[in-house]
Formats: sequence, C-alpha cells, structure tokens
Amino acid sequence: LSRALKQHVGPFLQDMEEMGFENVTSDTIFTGETAALIAMEYGFEPTVDTGSQRDLRPRPPPEDPSVLPSRPPVVTIMGHVDHGKTTLLDWLRKSSVAAQEHGGITQHIGAFVVKMSSGKSITFLDTPGHAAFLSMRQRGANVTDIVVLVVAADDSVKPQTLEALKHATSAKVPIIVAITKVDKEDARIEQVKADLSRHGVEIEDYGGDVQVVCVSGKTGQGMEDLEENIVTLSEILDVRAEDDGMAEGWVLESSIKPQGKAATILVKRGTLRPGDLIVAGKTWAKIRVLRNEAGLELDSAPPGTPVEILGWRELPTAGEQVIQSPDEAKAKTAVEYRMEMAEREQSSIQLAEQEQRQREKAAADAAAEGESGPTTAGESTEPGVLTQNFIVKADVVGSVEAVCGTILELGSHEVRPKILRSSAGQITESDIDHAATSNSIIVNFNCTIPPHIKQRAEEAKVKILDHKVIYHVVDDVKAALSDILPMNV
Ligand code: GDP
Repeated sequence: LSRALKQHVGPFLQDMEEMGFENVTSDTIFTGETAALIAMEYGFEPTVDTGSQRDLRPRPPPEDPSVLPSRPPVVTIMGHVDHGKTTLLDWLRKSSVAAQEHGGITQHIGAFVVKMSSGKSITFLDTPGHAAFLSMRQRGANVTDIVVLVVAADDSVKPQTLEALKHATSAKVPIIVAITKVDKEDARIEQVKADLSRHGVEIEDYGGDVQVVCVSGKTGQGMEDLEENIVTLSEILDVRAEDDGMAEGWVLESSIKPQGKAATILVKRGTLRPGDLIVAGKTWAKIRVLRNEAGLELDSAPPGTPVEILGWRELPTAGEQVIQSPDEAKAKTAVEYRMEMAEREQSSIQLAEQEQRQREKAAADAAAEGESGPTTAGESTEPGVLTQNFIVKADVVGSVEAVCGTILELGSHEVRPKILRSSAGQITESDIDHAATSNSIIVNFNCTIPPHIKQRAEEAKVKILDHKVIYHVVDDVKAALSDILPMNV
C-alpha cells in the first residue's frame, strides 16, 4: 500500500499510528475498504475492487417466500443398485404428458417433468447415481426438495440404501420411501418396513411421518399413489420461487450434441427465455434454444423446470451454478474475472509449493551440518524435522498469497509448516474433511465461517485459527508449531 501511495514505509507506518491504527507493521493486511480510506487520506480517489463488482452473484434470498408463486417440486430417486430406480423413472417418464404429445420419443437430458391429471407437475432428476446430488451439495446447493428412497421388496435395506438415507438426512431433504418390486413372489414388505424402522427411518406404520408407498415399476401398481404423495408433501413443504427477476439455476449435465454444446439447467429462480444471457462457472451462453425432454422448443422456463439449453461458448460442468446476466458485456467480464481468479489461485499454490521446497532444502542442509537431530515424535519428512500441516482460506486471492507467505516464513530447523491447500473463499465441508484426515490446522483469514462448518470442525476435532489481522495469525501459527515440539528439557 505504501508503494502504491508513493510513501516511504517508515513514515507511512508512523502516519498509520497517528490515524489510530495500532501495531501496524509492514506485514499487516488491510481489507479493501480500510486501504481505500487510507488512500483517501493521501488525496487519492480509490475504487474498491472486491471482485463482486466484476463477478456475477446470486441475488439475496427472498424476504417473504410465502407470497411467491408455487413451483413444481424437484425429486431425486435414490437407493441401492438393482432396486429398481431406472425402471421406476422409465415408467414415470413414459407417463409424462410431454412424452405422450410426442409419440413417446423422449431423449435423455438429465431430468423430466411429469404432469398429473390435477394439472400439478413434478420434476424428476434422472442423473445417474448420486453424483449430481453430491456435487451440487458440495457447492452448497440443495437442488432437490424430496428424495424418493427406493427399497426392493425382495432385498430390503442394503448399504447404498443407508448411504442414500445419510445423504438425504444431512442435506435435510425429506424422504418418501418407495418399496419397489412388490409384484414379486418373494416380496417381504413388512420385513422392509421393520428394517427401515430399525435404521431410524420414522415410517408412518410405526407412528412416524415418513410415507411409505408400495410400487411396481413393472405393472405400474402404486405409481399414482407415489405421485400423489409427492405432491402432498410438496404442498406441506410449500415450495415457491420468484418467476421474475434475474434467473438462477444449476447445471444438471452437459454434452456435445449434433446441434452444438448442450447443457441441462434446472431453473431455481426467475424465468429463462431464448436470447437471455447466462453464466455458468467459467463459460457463458446467449440462449439460442430452450427445449424440454421431448425435444420440444420452449419459449420460457420458469422455476422448477429442467431445460436443455443451446448456445454455449464452452461446455459448462455439471454441478455449476447458473446466473443470468443483464447483458453480454457483464457475462464476459464475469467469466474473465473467474478465469483470472483461477489462474492466480493456481500460481499462488505453485509459489507456496516452490517456497516450501526451498525451505525443505534449507532445513535438510541445516540438519546435515551436524546439529544434533532434535526430535522424532510427530510427522516428519526430513530426518529430525517435524511438520505441521496447514490449510489456508482467505477472503481474496491476494490475502491467500500473503497468509501463505507469512506462515511459510515461520518454520525453524526443528519444526516446519507445510501448506497442503490454499484458496480464496469460505471454509467448506471438504476443507474440514481434508484437514481431519491430514491432521491439518485451518487458517481462516478475513472470512466468515458458516455455523454448520464450525460445528463440523468441532465434531471432527479440526482446529481453526480465525483471524482478521496478520500478526495474530503469526502468533497462533508460532504457538501451533511449538505445540508439536516435545517438552523442553
Ligand atoms: P436400478 O439399478 O436401481 O436402476 O435398478 P433397475 O431399474 O435397473 O432394476 C434392476 C432389475 O430389477 C431389472 O432387471 C428390472 O427389470 C427389475 N425390476 C425393477 N423394478 C421391478 C419391479 O417393480 N418388479 C419386478 N418384478 N422387477 C423389477
């Protein structure tokens, strides 16, 4: 900052103190807003580039969702392999009005809509396995409103049944149980119910509120009940969304089709129309064509609708968030910004790794000079040198670089910090999991920590050093490094 303001560091630090900043050193990192205020003191007219000005972000959640129009519920079918998920989806797909209108020739676009005689619709996701569900959850999205947990009547509860149950529970998505293959002679419906109950599913028959429907994907038995149960549950859940304003959604899948690069988008808010501009990850599209699973071109896609979209510059990735842009220039700027950030993140990791290698070499050289090899406890990569792993998260890429640089300077010939991962943004569940398995301490700089992440860290006994001032990071990292040294004798 002093360089940017053309000030010598010494007098600049004195000025800081006079302005009321305490303990400012040449290592201190200021937020953009603070730096801008300081720059103004020197007569500059700074603009704060927080990134969000160049990026596209979703709009804030609605203040009162209960006044918004209702939308179709989005349903994912999960369960053990061979328990009848595909058969169930095929039956439902064939019953969809779109399919009937078009002679039953449907194409796979990753989702489809079933329109019921009551006029209500249900959107089913049929992306293979649990992959899409999980990848979107990792990005903090609950795309699904309801999970239909499929359990075969002749096989009962199996490992993937429990896994699906776990995913639905941790995503707080309500379930409906569909006992499939009830047409089979060896169907043991009561056994399935008892097994589910034993695994903590509070099913209706046992006094809970989880509905159980017996179905057959072969004969179609119970299918209408299943659809009605889904609609009833969605009415209880009261699923609603704005059908106006800038649209948002998620990429369910993408592929290159004869007509060009195609991606299926599930619209969550707003309405998409041909000609609209949308950004997904590091690519964008001017929507050329919107079409449904029957290949029918649509002139609009309101919330809850899955649509295949043509018009992409590059193919987007499944699981990415889609945000509408007011114009082409903004879409391009956002994509450029995201590419820049990804590049900087990559190069900051490379730089940190390079510095780490230099440090390792220096430590090895020092050890080779014949100092008495100090310790053996803990994890060590060089003989006698202990290592403490860190994961660094910060508000912006610049802070990530600064924090990593600072941490890597704090090693000694006895103990050395190692940064396994660093990136801009909030701590994620995967950071916690990585920290837990690699025995790392997470350093969080100038970023809020969501409550569920705090809780998860506590459960996993992962230590988070949470700071807004770099010298506090220094103090804590020093303490953490000396913690792993054996007691001084
Ligand atoms: P998925 O792996 O869960 O998608 O299971 P599939 O839908 O592929 O079904 C696995 C096998 O069970 C196939 O041979 C289906 O024909 C058979 N199957 C699925 N549902 C039923 C059903 O309701 N009744 C009977 N009798 N067989 C079924």
